[in-house]
Amino acid sequence: MAARGPGDLSQDGDLAGFAARFRDWLTEESAVVAPLLAEHSDYDLRVDNARALRRLLCEHGWGLAGWPEEAGGLGGSILHRSVVTEELFRAGWSGPTVFEHLEIIAPTLVRFAETEFVRSVVPSFLDGSRSWSQGFSEPEAGSDLASLRTRAVRDGDDFVVNGGKIWTTWSKWAHWCLALVRTGTAEERHRGLTMIAIDLSSPGVEVHPIRQANGTDELAQVHFTDVRVPAAQLVGEVGGGWNVALYLLARERGTLSWLRHCAFRHWLTAGTEVMAEDSDRQLGAVVLQLAGVRAAAARLLSRAADGAELGPEAAFNKLLMTRTEQSLFDLLREVDGVRVALPADSPAEVLQQQEYLFSRIVTIYGGSQQMQLTTVARHVLGLRDG
Ligand SMILES: Cc1cc2nc3c(=O)[nH]c(=O)nc-3n(C[C@H](O)[C@H](O)[C@H](O)COP(=O)(O)OP(=O)(O)OC[C@H]3O[C@@H](n4cnc5c(N)ncnc54)[C@H](O)[C@@H]3O)c2cc1C
Repeated sequence: MAARGPGDLSQDGDLAGFAARFRDWLTEESAVVAPLLAEHSDYDLRVDNARALRRLLCEHGWGLAGWPEEAGGLGGSILHRSVVTEELFRAGWSGPTVFEHLEIIAPTLVRFAETEFVRSVVPSFLDGSRSWSQGFSEPEAGSDLASLRTRAVRDGDDFVVNGGKIWTTWSKWAHWCLALVRTGTAEERHRGLTMIAIDLSSPGVEVHPIRQANGTDELAQVHFTDVRVPAAQLVGEVGGGWNVALYLLARERGTLSWLRHCAFRHWLTAGTEVMAEDSDRQLGAVVLQLAGVRAAAARLLSRAADGAELGPEAAFNKLLMTRTEQSLFDLLREVDGVRVALPADSPAEVLQQQEYLFSRIVTIYGGSQQMQLTTVARHVLGLRDG
């Protein structure tokens, strides 16, 4: 590793020093980095830039910091990854597009998949050459995920998968889908589910992008017809898929809030540049909410770095994060000069508008707001029905 790379990544290493070294690197390499952080209205170009940025970060070690050796990483913890995320946003980034899932899916693979499989797929996720999607929801199984019907049947060394998923974010660009499938009976509900990684280039896979109101094709429907999936691609035990799903969802609801709060700060900063003074009170309320998301996310990151299980309290982070996102864009919608609800011209305006429209649906992904409230009531506060 180059002397001026990530340096000491040990648990008790100097995180502030790591952040300073990364900031120096960003400054020194700004001629190469800045074009990859630039805002573009064209989504495909943003995805290409996100891939190129991951490659560059990995070539210099920064994209490998915080990942374990079997995943192709240099060691360290989620705290190192979070520093890299925050500094990129500070340098003007508006987000990782298809690699937002990296922090959700890659830790799940590392934790539950066979080491050989982790070695064969995670490095190409980290370096941006391959990306993943997450196939849980089905047309008849969203909140009631345990009723899902996509079936995987063992046949020799393979499973044969039939069925379909919906709202599978970023599958248009993805090479893999981490899919929750039924291997047991319908009556077994969540106990009959298994997690498996499906190569989306396999015969029998069809991906149909869904155009969203914000003009992007981020979501998709995916069909599986007699898709053969090697058993070596199981992620966890047969029948143990629910546990794997809970682990993943705790990341989507919890640790993801660190990245999202960095994005909110980016949009808030852009908005305050054109904000009139009489927005002060509303602005103050959003800043406070943002500080709350940051504090709650930081707490979860430290717990994850210490190897603690993240449980149902991640639902609290999801509620805090999505309510803040909506308050932020409610505020920006009222600001003269921020064109979230008007025809947009510049790439920055197009992006801001896409984010505004996306903020209207954030209370649904990763489990709806009502389901998060129920989780907090039952499993965090210990309240009972009736
Ligand atoms: C932007 C976005 C990205 C997504 N990405 C993915 C992805 O990558 N992979 C994936 O698998 N899925 C994804 N989803 C799907 C998401 O997980 C589901 O939409 C969500 O779980 C809700 O399921 P549903 O749409 O079937 O709604 P339903 O479950 O039909 O719910 C409809 C309404 O009824 C309410 N409701 C349902 N049951 C109850 C109950 N028991 N108590 C109280 N209220 C209830 C819900 O809160 C909701 O308001 C995404 C969704 C969105 C919006």
